[in-house]
Amino acid sequence: MDTEVIVVGGGQSGLVAGYYLKQAGIPFVILDEEPRLGEAWRQRWDSLELFTIAEYCALPGLRFPGRKNRFPGKEEMADYVEAYGREFDLPVRLGTRVTSLEPIEGGYRLETTKGTFEAPQVIVATGAYRLPKLPDLASRLDPDVFQVHTGRYRNPSQVPGGTVVVVGAANSGAQIAPELAAGRRVLLSQGSPLPHFGRRFLGKGLHWWGDKFGLIAKPLMGERDRLHKKTILVGPSLKKLARRHGFELVGRTVDADGRTLRFEDGRSAEVDAVVWATGFRYDYSWMRVPVLDDAGAPAQERGVTSAPGLYILGMQCQHSYGSALIWWVKDDAAYLVERIRQFRPQAVAGRRG
Ligand SMILES: Cc1cc2nc3c(=O)[nH]c(=O)nc-3n(C[C@H](O)[C@H](O)[C@H](O)COP(=O)(O)OP(=O)(O)OC[C@H]3O[C@@H](n4cnc5c(N)ncnc54)[C@H](O)[C@@H]3O)c2cc1C
Repeated sequence: MDTEVIVVGGGQSGLVAGYYLKQAGIPFVILDEEPRLGEAWRQRWDSLELFTIAEYCALPGLRFPGRKNRFPGKEEMADYVEAYGREFDLPVRLGTRVTSLEPIEGGYRLETTKGTFEAPQVIVATGAYRLPKLPDLASRLDPDVFQVHTGRYRNPSQVPGGTVVVVGAANSGAQIAPELAAGRRVLLSQGSPLPHFGRRFLGKGLHWWGDKFGLIAKPLMGERDRLHKKTILVGPSLKKLARRHGFELVGRTVDADGRTLRFEDGRSAEVDAVVWATGFRYDYSWMRVPVLDDAGAPAQERGVTSAPGLYILGMQCQHSYGSALIWWVKDDAAYLVERIRQFRPQAVAGRRG
């Protein structure tokens, strides 16, 4: 065994797990495929403004710099994540992509781009938003229609002029449509309307209220609750944004053919470009452990899987609405590290023996 715990992923979730592991005196290593900490944030679009105020962009033990009640940009968040790893001198091996995880006697073997690692316990913290979700109808558009998913969208200079449809009106689409609307005809296509809240209420950030009333940390009850609590739209209403920035709101995108997109409200548009703001999904396909359900997600209870010593951290709504949010991931991380503490190598050998 190389160490006691391997954490896969050095984003905020993996680093917070590292923070608690270090406090508990448990030897561990964090593996991350990127060459630098904070890359998940750096790779998001240039103008991204977080929906949580700075106070709630902090991880345990290190204050987020600057005024507490402002909404930071993504570069600041990326720099903060990088500074966090440095501040607590967390043992991170960068440029190390884990390509498979399988059970072995007394623990797990991880194949990586930098060799094989083995440990009795593993925390998988590879992020809830890994792979772009693209609807099938994207493939029915002419090849000369420019298409980009928000995972690769950076700024308006990438997108040709003319008519642009932003498909998906959650937080990403609602930030990107306004900046594209300067100099282009933009349509924002909305599927199911989301519950909508302003960024501030009585001068405080929305998440401040969610924290003070315990709503974000509250455990979700069962699968139905988990599915219903997934996304909220934070910021001005779509109607207000459309009026302010001069774009059009249309219904769900239901068909594509050549250069034409058709919407559920009966409207259609000839398009030059499409920005797919259709979300992301997790990717646990590299885990060769029988814990994945039919949708490829690990079955887990507060991050604990049925495989001894294997844990998941940072999944959307894995325990509470806050499970995949910056400030609240600490609750799940602290819980898992306590489980890990109780499940040291001797215990693993005993249970498997
Ligand atoms: C557009 C967007 C805006 C968001 N805004 C906010 C916000 O304002 N406030 C908030 O609280 N939350 C926000 N979130 C949610 C959440 O905070 C972020 O998604 C955050 O990046 C999640 O952190 P994480 O550590 O769980 O995953 P990630 O940040 O995705 O980190 C996962 C890490 O794992 C590494 N990795 C993945 N696979 C492997 C592998 N096989 N081998 C090795 N390394 C691997 C990656 O390189 C990455 O560094 C936002 C999410 C998105 C998508």
